[in-house]
Amino acid sequence: MEFTHGGEAHLVRPSPPAQVDDDTWTRFLYMRDNLKGVYAERWRHARGCGQFFNALRDTTTDHFVAVYKRGEPRPR
Ligand SMILES: [Zn+2]
Repeated sequence: MEFTHGGEAHLVRPSPPAQVDDDTWTRFLYMRDNLKGVYAERWRHARGCGQFFNALRDTTTDHFVAVYKRGEPRPR
């Protein structure tokens, strides 16, 4: 596959990990919104430049609504 899915976008890693309680760390590792509708996701151009980027994808139609760079805010 040219592009690979990288999970939910805009997750913030709690820091420093050694001082984060177990509930917070577990939520960071495993809990995802898994919305029905427009969802912000990380994607990687695996068979191209290897870069990660973000996209808004409608999970009900599989259509991509927007594509944007890592570090940029989610488009409206
Ligand atoms: Zn690329």
